[in-house]
Amino acid sequence: MSGRVSRKPMLIALLAIAMGVLALLISGPTPVAAPPAPPTKVALAAARTSDTPAPAPTTAPSATAAPSPTPAPDLPRATPTALPPTPSGVPTPTPRLAGTMLRVGIQVGHWKSSELPDELARLRSSSGAFAGGYHEADVNLEIAKRVVALLESRGLAVDLLPATIPPGYDADAFVAIHADGSSSGNSRGFKLATPWRTSRASQMLLDLLTTAYSNATGLPQDGAITFNMRGYYAFNNRRREHAIAKTTPAVIIEMGFLTSAADRAVIIGQPDNVAIGIANGIIRYLNERDPNDGAALLPPDFKTQRPISTDGLDVRSAPRDNAQVLRHVDSDGRLFVFQERDGWYQGFVRGGSRILGWFRKDQVTETNDPLPTPPPLTDS
Ligand SMILES: [Zn+2]
Repeated sequence: MSGRVSRKPMLIALLAIAMGVLALLISGPTPVAAPPAPPTKVALAAARTSDTPAPAPTTAPSATAAPSPTPAPDLPRATPTALPPTPSGVPTPTPRLAGTMLRVGIQVGHWKSSELPDELARLRSSSGAFAGGYHEADVNLEIAKRVVALLESRGLAVDLLPATIPPGYDADAFVAIHADGSSSGNSRGFKLATPWRTSRASQMLLDLLTTAYSNATGLPQDGAITFNMRGYYAFNNRRREHAIAKTTPAVIIEMGFLTSAADRAVIIGQPDNVAIGIANGIIRYLNERDPNDGAALLPPDFKTQRPISTDGLDVRSAPRDNAQVLRHVDSDGRLFVFQERDGWYQGFVRGGSRILGWFRKDQVTETNDPLPTPPPLTDS
């Protein structure tokens, strides 16, 4: 399943560089820095402004004229050789054997979605966003190939995965690559999300990837994480066979909006920066995690909660008493928790609108109600 960016003839590379220069002349230089050192900027294809007629969509050429993109941060540490974690009541994953290569799964959103298995038949027609002459799946694939090459150059085993995830796919990190679209065309920025039940490892991967991606691309961050992202089908190992293993640290990234000319100038115009941002985040995670902390890989398992007070409680937009109230929940309401932070739970309310919010731990108590029906199957 491992993929590499194929070497294209020099002619194509030269042509693409010429197109990139042309694009710069048309649109002007785009101010983006990719610390720690800017990579060679090679145009994926001419970045088009919105007033330029879109030519027939083509698969963007892999015009890497053997760039040596910014060296990613430190190489991953050697695989664990230390003692296993301290035994606790909860069984934790066994650390991998010493000498096992670190493995990363890079999923290309919507790629080969027509081949999805029957359990995901509803998503077979899901081709993702389309804007500016670009199909999301093509853009996702182009970036993903570059990410794979960067990670492999750092000695990692990498799987380039299509929409269909091998059953129970397990890796040291999993990143699903997508690009956004909006009907208004005004939306901008990238965003990342973890699965509903977020292990400490997934949260760490998300935090480091967010920083690395922001640094490499200069794109703004869009804070509007949607149900669709958290409920991403490839995360849903409770209900789906073709999903990642429960203990695989995972995030989904929306690299930016294809419907935004400004975002396209980065995603399409500076694919190496985009790939470097993603690769750096993954490498930093693998470097900084504690490979012997098996408990970090386990998603938390919260009980269903109900308000203690007969007055019910307020669900807020952030874990703060002065944050905006998104919804009031009556005393007979039920709340499904996915995350805990600073005395607050993040979760959603049974039934009603699909609002994810925060409520105080000391205002709820456990119930023995069955686990919630997960939100509907989604793709992003
Ligand atoms: Zn998508």
